[in-house]
Amino acid sequence: MKHYSRRSFLGDSAVAAGIATLGGAFIAPAFAQQVAAPVEIIRTDLGYAKLLQGAGCNVVVIPGKPEDGMLMIDSGLAVHSDALLQAAYEASGQNKVHTLINTHFHPEQTGCNEAVGAAGGRIIAHANTKMYLQNSVMSSAYEGRYGPLADAGIPGQTLREDGRMKFAGQEIVYGWLPAAHTDGDLFLYFPMLDTLITGGPVTTGQWPLLDIRQGGWIGGLLNAYEKLADIVSADTVVVPAHGPVTNGTTLIRMRNMYSELHLTLAEQLNIGMGWDDIVAANPLKQYEASYGDTAKFLELAMRSMTMAYVPD
Ligand SMILES: [Zn+2]
Repeated sequence: MKHYSRRSFLGDSAVAAGIATLGGAFIAPAFAQQVAAPVEIIRTDLGYAKLLQGAGCNVVVIPGKPEDGMLMIDSGLAVHSDALLQAAYEASGQNKVHTLINTHFHPEQTGCNEAVGAAGGRIIAHANTKMYLQNSVMSSAYEGRYGPLADAGIPGQTLREDGRMKFAGQEIVYGWLPAAHTDGDLFLYFPMLDTLITGGPVTTGQWPLLDIRQGGWIGGLLNAYEKLADIVSADTVVVPAHGPVTNGTTLIRMRNMYSELHLTLAEQLNIGMGWDDIVAANPLKQYEASYGDTAKFLELAMRSMTMAYVPD
């Protein structure tokens, strides 16, 4: 597996050439939250797991033992929590969330936390995600601040490294994707279902967001794709944080795209191009039809390279 470090992007001369031309105030992307409108939640069967879409992010539900209740992965926006929980009850045939796992702290992933925790559910997340949720934090993903959540919504169990756990006889391989989309990203792989839930670094039909205010950076994103690509086979079901479900073949293609981006950026910096020149040259142009306008992604990617030290 390759590992991307800041040094692999930026030689000394490139740092000088690149950073000097990066100007202008950063404007956080607009974030449409708290729009209290009826929501349509679309359910898709992924074998034993069920995918719920429409409440803010992709949510996966897996039925547990009848007396325990279900496993839920990510929990939508708070404004849609009633609708999402209702859909989850119907999808699982169970009326209780036994365990909720947050792949990261963003509002789209943690909106049912307080309701689930108040009803006695267990909440699991990376330790950094817990820290974000215990505070009032700014983000590149939304305007203003989010949190702290009420105590009931704070994860009671935290993970720091890679490992395995079980839910209702189902093995779950999990891991941390450091400094990628945020600095608290988890992925979850279910070997029995050959299903990978990627968390924030992977989106389909749109560029992923780098939350550079909360630890995300382009090298971490590339490392995340390397790690995830090692897990999948061609037909693995891949559930991104946002967008349609895809498969292992496409995930590997995405990994290759980001790997090529790294090579191109390094080459362009080495020949002395500044950031403005690189944005104008747009190394991702050929992918715009599949992922949309590249400007925001490239801006955050390049800003992330100029920020203070991030652990490699
Ligand atoms: Zn996110």
